Amino acid sequence: MTESTETPIRTLAFLYAHTSNYKCIHCHKSILRKTLSIATLERKDKKQKKKTLEPINPIHFKCWTVPEDFTKKPLHVYRGYQALKDTDKTRMQRLYEAGKGASWSALEAADEEARQAEQDEADIAAFDQDKSRKQKKRKHNDEDNKDMTNALTGNQSSTNKKIKKKKETLQKKKKETSQKEVPTNPVAKLDEIHGKRFVDDFNKILEDFKQ
Ligand SMILES: [Zn+2]
Repeated sequence: MTESTETPIRTLAFLYAHTSNYKCIHCHKSILRKTLSIATLERKDKKQKKKTLEPINPIHFKCWTVPEDFTKKPLHVYRGYQALKDTDKTRMQRLYEAGKGASWSALEAADEEARQAEQDEADIAAFDQDKSRKQKKRKHNDEDNKDMTNALTGNQSSTNKKIKKKKETLQKKKKETSQKEVPTNPVAKLDEIHGKRFVDDFNKILEDFKQ
């Protein structure tokens, strides 16, 4: 009986490239120094110590696809895993859980899709909220308008005069601040309806007369 020493034992290892001399066996581009890659450790037999091995066939983390037997061993036994940065450990765990055939680029694409869907939903919600806010504002303006109308159509009480005064000051201020601002102003509309300018003039004459 001869021992089957012909088939080498291969295991995966995680490593940060020491130099930028490594080329990815998947995309054939170089693996930048200090970036995460997955390589293979190849032993002639079990007697050969893993520590002496130089990893071969490096592949970019993002180019790598989880092979079938990867999840047969716990993640932490793979060489280099313990030395990974926490963020890379997390990424590797996610791939491990995703299982055979999973790749980081596919997971990222799925994430992006989910993010996009979430964003679209948020945009729609924001749009609806804005619309209802504008509607509320319009309703509010209408109510103001009604209040003013009630005040002006009633008898000339002192309250009415106060409101009129307020309105005048407001209008004056408005004129001073900006000429561009000519929006649909409920106050201006009321002037047209009730001929405020005429009433004002009349009141002024009346006051002058009293003095
Ligand atoms: Zn690659």
